[in-house]
Amino acid sequence: MHELALAQNLLKIVCQAAQENGLLKVTGICIVCGEMMGIVPDALQFGFEVSSVSTVAQGAKLEYKELPALIKCNSCQHQYHWKTYGYSCPQCFHLGGEMVQGYEFYVDYIEGDEKEDGNNDTS
Ligand SMILES: [Zn+2]
Repeated sequence: MHELALAQNLLKIVCQAAQENGLLKVTGICIVCGEMMGIVPDALQFGFEVSSVSTVAQGAKLEYKELPALIKCNSCQHQYHWKTYGYSCPQCFHLGGEMVQGYEFYVDYIEGDEKEDGNNDTS
């Protein structure tokens, strides 16, 4: 299961980031993922919930920003959406290009509390 392995990697990154930032509880995680990764958000959320039990990230909500898969034309350098055009440039009709975006998977930011009870006492 692809998503479970990703969820475990993700958990490592998140726990490390929480430690570095002095967070006692992680409440939200924003992930950037490329379209080509083919991630099923529900499966990743489930894998994360299972993996994060009794860690600082238990109960955190995952959010996704999906980046479209983009091809850069070999001939005119135009960038276009792979899902719509495949490898055929809509601008100069050249066939062939390089995928420049679509395989990303990283944490954009995490949200959390520096206090366990999460109250808003700022003093
Ligand atoms: Zn082109």
